[in-house]
Amino acid sequence: PPPATAIIGAGIAGLACARALDAAGLPVTLFDKARGAGGRMSSRRLPEAVLDLGAQFFSVRDPAFRRAVAAWRKAGCIAPWPTSLWSAQEGRWARHEDDLERLCGAPRVSAVTRHLAEGLTLQAATRIERLEGSAGAWQLVDEHGAHHGPFARVVISTPSPQAHPLVAPHDATLAEACEGVIQRPCWAAWALFDAPLPALPGVDADWQAVRLADARLRFVTRNQLKPGRQAQGESLSLLANLEWSEARLEDSPETVVEALLEAFQQALPEGVRLPAPSALGAHRWRYAQPDVFATGEAVNRDYRLSASGLALCGDGWRGPRVEDAWLSGHHLGEALVADAT
Ligand code: FAD
Repeated sequence: PPPATAIIGAGIAGLACARALDAAGLPVTLFDKARGAGGRMSSRRLPEAVLDLGAQFFSVRDPAFRRAVAAWRKAGCIAPWPTSLWSAQEGRWARHEDDLERLCGAPRVSAVTRHLAEGLTLQAATRIERLEGSAGAWQLVDEHGAHHGPFARVVISTPSPQAHPLVAPHDATLAEACEGVIQRPCWAAWALFDAPLPALPGVDADWQAVRLADARLRFVTRNQLKPGRQAQGESLSLLANLEWSEARLEDSPETVVEALLEAFQQALPEGVRLPAPSALGAHRWRYAQPDVFATGEAVNRDYRLSASGLALCGDGWRGPRVEDAWLSGHHLGEALVADAT
């Protein structure tokens, strides 16, 4: 029989790997500790608004990724966004222009991962705590002690600090590779308003996203101006700088959102005041984005695959973006297919 593969983590990397295996007719089962697929491409649904608190949009550079993105566009789960991107420094706003293609999930970022998960076997709400067995016959043990397997191959697509304890008892080389990746934390805050933000002089009324030169706040997006969300009111995502987040890791969400709103107020042109928000919150991503990621090697470029059938993929093996995570998982999937046929 064809070798069965387990994939721990149903973020974009794990899903890209699963799709490559599934397309080749190879059996694959995904496991995720969360209630569904998505990982850092998931969205928060409040009664008043849908908020993206992880990835806000993604850019396209690589030809293989561009082909996948074209299929997602056909399926209707993404649309170009932002089309009005700005940068701001000390109250001065300027339109950000370049040739990069940028897209966002519609009607929320998680539409992409939901689309990729369609038709695949996903065991959600299952946190894998350890692996048992050896080459060719791995068992996954979850938080309740239940065993899943056997699997000939096990792909771990979680952030590398979470992959480390799974591989360390079995493979020193993979464990060492995990130690070489640094995943930085990020606070992602949100604020809802009863009325639209005031107009900013010299800036599109419908500006969609702004990059900030500030030690606290790096990016603000307007969720109600994302494709498919016109029915919701003014709803901002405010992403903190990684260094600032690291220093504030143990702060309360209330303190964090207050500091980030204050930073945004200071970034607005002089004389413009933010209205009082009607609801606020903040989410802490402990492993938000790789700061130092595994460097390329001649053989295993953006994933790791050991002879024992254990493999690692995800953004930490390539770079800090959705595209990097997808490519890492896709390339590993292709390698596993080549290995099995
Ligand atoms: P993840 O999405 O983290 O997937 C890993 C999965 O593993 C998760 O679903 C998790 O629940 C699961 N898991 C972990 N441990 C276990 C376990 N023990 N058992 C079972 N399941 C487990 N990229 C861009 O391109 N553009 C952006 O604008 C952008 N903005 C970002 C903003 C923020 C705040 C953050 C956090 C990230 C942003 N990124 C952005 C980066 C992008 O989101 C990530 O690079 C990408 O989503 C990573 O995908 P992944 O599959 O490698 O990992």
